[in-house]
Amino acid sequence: MSKLSLRSRLLFSHIIVMLVGLITLLIVGRLFSPQLFELHLKRLEGRGFDLSEIRHDLIWKFESAWSRGAWLSLLMGVTVSGGLSYVVARRVVQPLIQMEKITQQFAQGNLKARVPESEILELNRLAISFNRMASNLEDVEQRRRELVGDLTHELRTPLTILEGYLEGLADGTIESSPEIFQRLAAETTRLRRLVHDVQELSKAEAGYLPINIQPLDLYPLLQSLIQRFSDQLLEDGPVLRLECLPNLPLVSADPERVEQIMVNLLGNALRYTVKGSITVKVWSESAKLWIAVIDTGHGIKAKDLPFVFDRFWRSERSRARSPGGTGIGLAISHRLVELQGGEIQVESELDKGSTFRFSLPLA
Ligand code: ADP
Repeated sequence: MSKLSLRSRLLFSHIIVMLVGLITLLIVGRLFSPQLFELHLKRLEGRGFDLSEIRHDLIWKFESAWSRGAWLSLLMGVTVSGGLSYVVARRVVQPLIQMEKITQQFAQGNLKARVPESEILELNRLAISFNRMASNLEDVEQRRRELVGDLTHELRTPLTILEGYLEGLADGTIESSPEIFQRLAAETTRLRRLVHDVQELSKAEAGYLPINIQPLDLYPLLQSLIQRFSDQLLEDGPVLRLECLPNLPLVSADPERVEQIMVNLLGNALRYTVKGSITVKVWSESAKLWIAVIDTGHGIKAKDLPFVFDRFWRSERSRARSPGGTGIGLAISHRLVELQGGEIQVESELDKGSTFRFSLPLA
């Protein structure tokens, strides 16, 4: 099929419509005007005018005047409507050409390019959809760039440590000892965790994590988690308890993702609480169920609180720990809570303890 531009198609369709109109007008005019003119002459004769001598001449003149008028109107009609059609086609096609240029710019990497509004309703809708898609893509690209930037920064430290030790061991400036190898093993463990966590985070951020929302009774899930974590507690460590009524209202959530969030929050509480208690408390409030993990651990400085859910953020204290965490767990939890329609909050006081709580919508 031959490809005609939209402008030519519009032009042709306008000209065809106009020609059909004009030709119909001409045919109808040609058929009826002489008869009507003759009728008019007959009426004049009826009123006593004698037209017998000029009758033939009058009809002939009328027909020739009519034909000339018709040709003139055909010529003018085609010219004027052709010109008008050209202007209209241009107005429709111009924004499309502009859109095409902008999408090309976008494809070439100018993610800030946006399509301007159009006065044509459908084109305006297309422009709005394109712009929405463009800002989503820009967001994803921005996050991807930030993630890669943060990740390279995070990878540099363990890699530098590994490199330093391995070079020292190779040239004999460091003597090999079980402690050195333990340190090397700890750094590689940290690298492995980092890779695993980043993979989870990128899935959660890009929205590729399957979330299987269903009506869920949290009580058995929390109980089994408490049981699992209690087994890890040292004898002189904190006590772990669950504070909630057994007949909890059902929530709309994904059991696997809730478990992932809880494992992260309980894991953190355990890691940062030397003595005292870790309490899991559950209560409902309007259309939400809140789950809180309250610890009496070393807490977080007030100035650090706004950053705890940022990826790779770790307090100075936990950075000093070796191998330490990756600072990704809370970023993942934050995203997982959001994906299930809830919110997550933190309250903490240095050396007193922290409370991490999140909500889930009731089923
Ligand atoms: P990770 O624990 O792997 O470092 P997270 O994202 O889970 O990563 O936590 C980020 C940081 O927040 C931790 O490094 C720690 O400094 C701080 N943090 C998290 N939970 C607690 C807690 N319960 N008590 C004190 N600090 C915490």
